[in-house]
Amino acid sequence: MGLEEMEIPHEVRGRVLAWRAEGLSVGLVPTMGALHEGHLSLVRASVAQCERTVVSVFVNPTQFPEGEDLQRYPRRPQEDAEKLRAAGADLIFRPGEEVMYCEDACTSVVQEGLPEMLCGAHRPGHFRGVLTVVAKLFNIACPDRAYFGRKDFQQSVLICRMVRDLNFAVEVRVMPTVREHDGLAMSSRNEYLSPAQRRQAVCLFEALRLGRRLFNEGEVDPEPVKEAMRELIERHPEAEPQYVEIVRPDDLRAVERITRESVACLAVFVGEARLIDNMPFGPVDDIFVEPPPERAEITG
Ligand code: AMP
Repeated sequence: MGLEEMEIPHEVRGRVLAWRAEGLSVGLVPTMGALHEGHLSLVRASVAQCERTVVSVFVNPTQFPEGEDLQRYPRRPQEDAEKLRAAGADLIFRPGEEVMYCEDACTSVVQEGLPEMLCGAHRPGHFRGVLTVVAKLFNIACPDRAYFGRKDFQQSVLICRMVRDLNFAVEVRVMPTVREHDGLAMSSRNEYLSPAQRRQAVCLFEALRLGRRLFNEGEVDPEPVKEAMRELIERHPEAEPQYVEIVRPDDLRAVERITRESVACLAVFVGEARLIDNMPFGPVDDIFVEPPPERAEITG
């Protein structure tokens, strides 16, 4: 079976319901496109665990607060389709904006508390946009399972809470963060980085690793750990931390004492690019991709 492309919600629903009527399980991977190995790891997980895989590609305007990079966000439909075909996806849902949002739409998913923490404090309306589009995608694609990346930690927590609170009949699976060989978490926004900024962007990962090391050496007070992480980031001239927090994974509240369950979360501007990353203080199952061959020679 080849890779099908659809733009119309009820056609997607029709196809998925036909699959499910045949007894086939269906996985959904929501994305904004410009696909990289992080996205493809979710697609491969779905292909391995479900009999059919739907991938949505939609740069959702409602999750970009005023003044953010909506216009500039990379769009590469052809390349995305090729990657999805190679990864074994069955259906791409690529709706236009007018198909997703009626002009007089007036209903959205509003969560209380959690969306105001971490990124939400700096990106007003962002999570309302995310939760609303994810709820719509669940209703359009009717998946058995949906796959999200832990790289967007707060997003995954909010989506799990929405699914629980609103009884969506979807099983959410949150998958490990995929990193470049030097530790930078893969992100479509890494494309904004100049070569010099790209080298400095590894400071997010290094700060997270430093936090873990300090904890492993016995420090459980979050303040000196956050301070040391911040200082490490600020030593990079193009990097400007927006927040560095250590939180509980369930309610995203700042911890008073670090435990193995705590998660360090940060957002850092590197030049114009706003990058986020996170790491638990307990076991980590991040995936590192191989360096491209020419780079492997340089770095030995
Ligand atoms: P996006 O296209 O940025 O909205 O991301 C779509 C999905 O891919 C989200 O569930 C992200 O958390 C996930 N994702 C993005 N980058 C990574 C990564 N480096 N590792 C794992 N998952 C990722």
